[in-house]
Amino acid sequence: MELMQRADYERRLEELKRRFPYQWEGDHLDLYIEPGWLTLFEEVCSEIDALLSQEEKKGFHWRQIKEKFGKLRAYFSGRETNLPEVTVKKITSIIDKAEEKSGEACLFCGAPGSFRNTCGWMHTACDEHFQRDRSLLPRFAGEQPRTLEKILRDHWHNS
Ligand SMILES: [Zn+2]
Repeated sequence: MELMQRADYERRLEELKRRFPYQWEGDHLDLYIEPGWLTLFEEVCSEIDALLSQEEKKGFHWRQIKEKFGKLRAYFSGRETNLPEVTVKKITSIIDKAEEKSGEACLFCGAPGSFRNTCGWMHTACDEHFQRDRSLLPRFAGEQPRTLEKILRDHWHNS
């Protein structure tokens, strides 16, 4: 499957924030969703929105979203904002289900993928995106691969 255009990704992310603004407000660490998992995450946001009462929405926001060990990981405010235990459990189960699905979807393009361990980098990729470059593919269509050299150069440049 084709990689997404960065502009499309950014537009969909903005749309998601417009639809559910409360989910994106409040203290948080990085909130980064791999492009191949964006559709999955849009569903998570909708499901959680449908679950929460107006009052409960005040107690929910994302704390951190990232990729870890090949899967989507998402953390939210909950117990510290006094969301009812039963609600916390329901949200957790929605997220758990999505994390499970992310382990079967290419993080680059969203096509069916499988778990890979490339030189210690664990990720989920389809055959196409795994074979073309074993570790450092561009995330978006038309962009240069993030070669290790470039990552290091950016790092030195920024530090
Ligand atoms: Zn792929």
